[in-house]
Amino acid sequence: MKKNFLNYHKSLGYIAIAVIGISPMMQVKAQENSKNKMETKEIKNSENILLSKWTGPYDGVPAFDKMELSQLQPAIEMGMEMHLKEIQKIANNTAPATFENTIVAMERAGKELDRAFTYYGIWSSNVSSPEFREIQKELSPKISDYSSKISQNKKLFERIKTVYDNSLKTTLDEDQQRVVQLIYENFAMEGANLDKNAKERYAAINKDLSKLYTSFSNNVLHDEESYVTYLEKDQLDGLPDSFVKAAAKAAKDRGEEGKYAITNTRSSMDPFLTYSDERELRGKVWETYYSRGDNNDEYDNNELISQILKLRNERVKLMGYENFAEWRLQNRMAKNPENAMKLMNAVWPAALARVEQEVEDMQTIADMEDRNITIKPWDYRYYAEKVRKDKYDLDSDEVKQYLQLDNLTQALFFTAGELFNFNFSPVAKGSVPVFHEDVKVWEVTDKTSGDHIGLWYLDPYARPGKRSGAWATTYRSYTTFDGKETVLASNNSNFVKPAPGEPALISWDDATTFFHEFGHALHFLSANVKYPTLNGGVRDYTEFQSQLLERWLSTDKVINQFLLHHETGEPIPAALVQKIKNASTFNQGFETTEFLASALMDMKYHTIDPENINPKNFEKKALKELNMPEEIVMRHRSPQFGHVFSGEGYATGYYGYLWADVLTADAAEAFAESPGGFYDKDMAAKLVKYLFAPRNSMDPAEAYRLFRGRDASIDALMRDRGFPVPEENMENNSQDKNEDLLEEMKEEKKDNN
Ligand SMILES: [Zn+2]
Repeated sequence: MKKNFLNYHKSLGYIAIAVIGISPMMQVKAQENSKNKMETKEIKNSENILLSKWTGPYDGVPAFDKMELSQLQPAIEMGMEMHLKEIQKIANNTAPATFENTIVAMERAGKELDRAFTYYGIWSSNVSSPEFREIQKELSPKISDYSSKISQNKKLFERIKTVYDNSLKTTLDEDQQRVVQLIYENFAMEGANLDKNAKERYAAINKDLSKLYTSFSNNVLHDEESYVTYLEKDQLDGLPDSFVKAAAKAAKDRGEEGKYAITNTRSSMDPFLTYSDERELRGKVWETYYSRGDNNDEYDNNELISQILKLRNERVKLMGYENFAEWRLQNRMAKNPENAMKLMNAVWPAALARVEQEVEDMQTIADMEDRNITIKPWDYRYYAEKVRKDKYDLDSDEVKQYLQLDNLTQALFFTAGELFNFNFSPVAKGSVPVFHEDVKVWEVTDKTSGDHIGLWYLDPYARPGKRSGAWATTYRSYTTFDGKETVLASNNSNFVKPAPGEPALISWDDATTFFHEFGHALHFLSANVKYPTLNGGVRDYTEFQSQLLERWLSTDKVINQFLLHHETGEPIPAALVQKIKNASTFNQGFETTEFLASALMDMKYHTIDPENINPKNFEKKALKELNMPEEIVMRHRSPQFGHVFSGEGYATGYYGYLWADVLTADAAEAFAESPGGFYDKDMAAKLVKYLFAPRNSMDPAEAYRLFRGRDASIDALMRDRGFPVPEENMENNSQDKNEDLLEEMKEEKKDNN
């Protein structure tokens, strides 16, 4: 679950723009700009390769072989200027506002800047350097200004509103209607509809909030850096060598040579609590970690939380919303806080029941060891690890021998061929420019017609200057409104580059991520939308397609053809695959509960009246009402919940990971139950037609209904996590139904064997 819930920002695509702090309006992408009063600019533009039109094969490709860092800042600055001029022209048009002269013109604008940002993305993610980061620092306030100039352009918004209002009377084509709606809503959500006074207050609130967000995150950082637990040599029992070495170095770096430092971060706390035999120290490290931002001193975040909540509430009230959650969720798949809460409340009792079992398993081990203890929160990870070894003993190194990167790449192509009818063939080396010699490029065509679909770039290996993790992105997205544009998609990973002649062997987790990111690439490549805005993503929906694709890794066809031992060529044994699958439900009680407690609190904070809130009491009381198990604490306690209080990205959005997981599990079952299983042709056709090709041109809930014939149900997710369903907590379900569910779960287990 860690993977499923915590892989945010792995996929970028258009979303990359949000990462560098630009509003959604920046997502407006378009064709060549029309010839207007920009001749001087165009002369300079032709000198800057980063702004220039792409040339070469496949309708033009980025000039990655010619990019120079010295050209980046002028390119971005000039690109922004050019885009703002185009926007100005649209806003100042004296003709009545129409779809064509306003919306289409906006979709068409900013082409040069878009190209410059493609290179910017490569520098920031794939080939970064201290020089680049200096430029980035200088550019980011300028980019933010540029973005405000568009979102606060009153004349522009008036024209958008006119087109929107007219479209409610005289309906446009379905996809045009959706573009207008999305653009209008984006502006309106940022206060474009407010009168002058309200707008001023709105801006002032945002300014105050941005300061509070910074203070909140600095306070957490302060407490992470200031509290260190030092150990002596005789307090290291149970800790792995690598951890001990790192702790010794951390102590030395702090002037405490000869001691061992447990720093106050998750990456230090988590392994310490998992392995240390010293129960009292585990308690101390746990207490310190979960008290971050909550120490009744000048770095205490509780007061900031109440200020943030009040300001957020005031801001959305200006626009007539009941609360922050209602405002935020209107354009998410969940649509409103009630739907998100309904899902969380449905999973919650099952997670609690699972915790009870897990604690029982752990208590049994503790009793067998004659420890004479009751499991406490600082014991959970420690005893869970013992249960894991006992129940699922899985040798990850043994699994690796069957996971060769080249074979897995072929497995991706095979899956794409079966589901999407795509063919991947390598392009001749040198025919398409790349930014590093490790990058390889394939041409994607339709298997039947041979039609060109796009290119797929793969940058597989780790190296200095490349950011960690794995992600997918596009250099060009599919649109047809101004002539057809084909897709340039890319996947990026951080596999360890093997010695020449050796195979690259990767872990099961990494192989799953490889499929996951390829799911994003297929989502880009299969797009069938006319307008650029419709290529955008919806936060609680965009991870679904990629999570779903992960499921093909463990299908028989992939296993038998591609998961072959690098020396013997034998397919991975079924028993080993089963072990992997069994281990996937391990510790789901803990992980789901700590996650959901945070997600539920996130939603509660933003649906109540914050006027007299005392976060400390509120957290305590709300968790008590939820029957939070004593053995577990929120994954992010309120004074540390940076997702929600260090900014707005995940405020009332933390549930989104679970939302996408429900869809994933439910859609995977649709395949599993169909006559052709995961390779069923009818299912594949529906998958492409409704879940991938439309991107955001269709309401996601409606798209899912067309695929499944009904809304997603949470049953599949529960089965996936191996959750029992206790009768007393399922208010809406009869006992019989619960028993059926348990029976079904047993059947499922049998089928898998
Ligand atoms: Zn993803």
